[in-house]
Amino acid sequence: MLQNTPVDQYPEIVNELRQSFNSGITRSLEFRKQQLRRVWDLLDENVDVFIKTIHQDLRKPVQEVLGTEIGPSKEEAYYLINNLDRLAKPEKVKGRYLVNAMETKYYRKDALGLILIMSSWNYPVQLIFLPLVGAIATGNVAIIKPAELSPHTAAAITELLPRYLDPRFFRVVNGGIPETTALLQQRFDHIFYTGNGHVGRVILAAAAKHLTPVTLELGGKSPAIVMPDSDLQVVANRVAFGRFLNCGQVCVAVDYVLVHEKVLEPFVEALKKATTSFYGTDPQQSKDYARIIYERSFARLTSMLANTTGRVVYGGQSDKEDLFIAPTIVTGFTDLPNEPLMQEEIFGPILPVIPISDVDEALQFVNASSHIPPSLLPEETTHCPSIFSRTTKKSLRKVIISDNFVLDNTHSGGVTVNDIFMHAQELAMCFGGVGTSGMGKYHGDASYDVFTHRRAVMVKNQGLEAVVAAIKYPPYSQNSVDI
Ligand code: NAD
Repeated sequence: MLQNTPVDQYPEIVNELRQSFNSGITRSLEFRKQQLRRVWDLLDENVDVFIKTIHQDLRKPVQEVLGTEIGPSKEEAYYLINNLDRLAKPEKVKGRYLVNAMETKYYRKDALGLILIMSSWNYPVQLIFLPLVGAIATGNVAIIKPAELSPHTAAAITELLPRYLDPRFFRVVNGGIPETTALLQQRFDHIFYTGNGHVGRVILAAAAKHLTPVTLELGGKSPAIVMPDSDLQVVANRVAFGRFLNCGQVCVAVDYVLVHEKVLEPFVEALKKATTSFYGTDPQQSKDYARIIYERSFARLTSMLANTTGRVVYGGQSDKEDLFIAPTIVTGFTDLPNEPLMQEEIFGPILPVIPISDVDEALQFVNASSHIPPSLLPEETTHCPSIFSRTTKKSLRKVIISDNFVLDNTHSGGVTVNDIFMHAQELAMCFGGVGTSGMGKYHGDASYDVFTHRRAVMVKNQGLEAVVAAIKYPPYSQNSVDI
């Protein structure tokens, strides 16, 4: 059972962590590496615990727990252990001014201090541990606030963390909205938040009171653009995977598809085929299909479906007791501007498929949305070069890659061409939104940057004072002009 941390303890926890930071112990690279190794051990030795709790919270399949929760978190800890000496090294700076030519100039990479990490429930391990290892590697202390909507995993993290990490430096605080609101009244040196944009605004407003910098990893509507020269079955497999993974509860999921009208029908057929091959004809019985997190989200999604102006051409079934919504494909919309599925991020297993006449229309559509997608997912073929060679000037290879037409005319946190959100899974690439989909980037080296302050240091010497005086100090030259 997940216990809320009493609100009256927060000032004391913050105070203790600040004192621990001031002790300077986290400055030691050896200490940081040792704590990172303990994170690795925690994840490695408790795989079965997390498989169970994430199943209880989300019915997430074992392979997905291993591949999208434990695996990336361990990999990131391992990377930071092995790259810490390089990342922590001060950076030499080449000066521009002759007067500083002889001086030592460099950036220190200083820890920020006390970090608050608040995460969402959809990846309840990854979204805690990826930022946490960044905070540890950089010599910070941290308070971790797991999402209360994934209570089994939050309880496991609460129990395990003090057994592996030094509680003088890393603590877990639990609670819902009242507790989080109280926690946000404390002063932190950085807040790292993953969740929706409404709460993102609450975080930013609370942080503003203390001038605390924030990283916000938010959501948005991410389109997939499918052009007719694609291998439709390959595209459909990837799109169906990218929409129905984790029951559609992925921040960079394919939120809707813009498909060239010429191939709408075969594409929808290919989507149906892909989805059936993944989850069978009765997806409620599939071990590989997750569940909606809680009733409110279930009600929001089923209401969207009940009020859609489109036609459900696949799926559509739901079971409230089981928090099950079948993988669902909707097309044939009669009132797109007012379509419930197009008003906000869907964050569930429903895929609108919308025909477009060309890439310009697709771009107009994407750019008309007030949501800036965290992940823009254009699809183009590498399988049909003959068709490709017959297409017009705006063939997709040209518009996406050579002319950068799609990229130049859109705005998004990241892009994967010919697949779904794979740039987010590649931890060597920085990850983060832009505009309403978030601010700040992390993963790999970017995590090191986000939790450190590049402190400019110049070391001058005390010699040559006569030269310095002639150039720098008043009275200035005899040729000074009177104003
Ligand atoms: P959530 O409601 O569980 O919120 C996350 C955190 O915010 C929790 O710790 C919760 O306690 C806290 N919180 C909730 N309401 C609050 C309030 N009123 N005041 C203060 N704190 C509050 O998670 P969610 O927002 O439902 O998560 C889904 C959203 O997160 C989607 O929009 C998704 O796209 C986004 N997301 C983004 C990423 C990313 O990396 N960009 C990853 C996962 C999810």
